[in-house]
Amino acid sequence: MRVLIVGVGDAFSTRHFGTSCVIEGPEGFLLVDCPDCLRRALAEASATSGWRVGIETIRDVVITHLHGDHVNGLEAFGFLHWLARRAHPAPAPRLHMGPGAAARIWERLAPAMDQGGGATLGDYFELHVLEPGMPARIAGLKVETRPTGHPVPTTALRFSNGAKRFGWSADTPWDPGLIEWLSECDLFVHETSEPPAHTPLEKLNRLPEATRRKMRLAHLGDDFDAGATDIRPLTQGEVLTP
Ligand SMILES: [Zn+2]
Repeated sequence: MRVLIVGVGDAFSTRHFGTSCVIEGPEGFLLVDCPDCLRRALAEASATSGWRVGIETIRDVVITHLHGDHVNGLEAFGFLHWLARRAHPAPAPRLHMGPGAAARIWERLAPAMDQGGGATLGDYFELHVLEPGMPARIAGLKVETRPTGHPVPTTALRFSNGAKRFGWSADTPWDPGLIEWLSECDLFVHETSEPPAHTPLEKLNRLPEATRRKMRLAHLGDDFDAGATDIRPLTQGEVLTP
């Protein structure tokens, strides 16, 4: 399993793209969240890492929740694949998310994508609901979910290839139970931003050293101070090998 870090920022960052990554599983690429300017973010991460991942090669997208800094790129992603499939017929990309987000995703996209009422979500994406407590198989990886306490339905994730496990907190307030679940992974990404919707850095700094060493930070605001913690922040274009 290889993970390309595409963006590391929060919703308001002037320095970073929104937090997202591409995971290379045994059966293809899996994009975690789809923020603004995704194509540009992918191009920059590809240039930095030397590992080129094009948006057109991504067949699976996992969405943690419907806040704009996690889904604003879906319109362009959906249209790009839709146009490509008109020229060369192929299955629609698969969109995976928890039931709360799945129930409302079309409400989010329809005003821009329903083409005057003629198109539906199914014209762009094959929707797959990640049912709580039911592991899914995506891009050849086992994917487990856990709801977080963010103000809208939000799903934390664990990805396993059988040998290694990689975790992703998604947006979450401070939640020791979630961190325990994530720390069963070989490596995991945890968000940090302003409470109460997010997790303050001071709480993470007090975790045991063994947990801090497995943890990388994302969802960074412009005022994030790397000197205030020994937990390593992610950088755009970095490649993780859990
Ligand atoms: Zn959020």
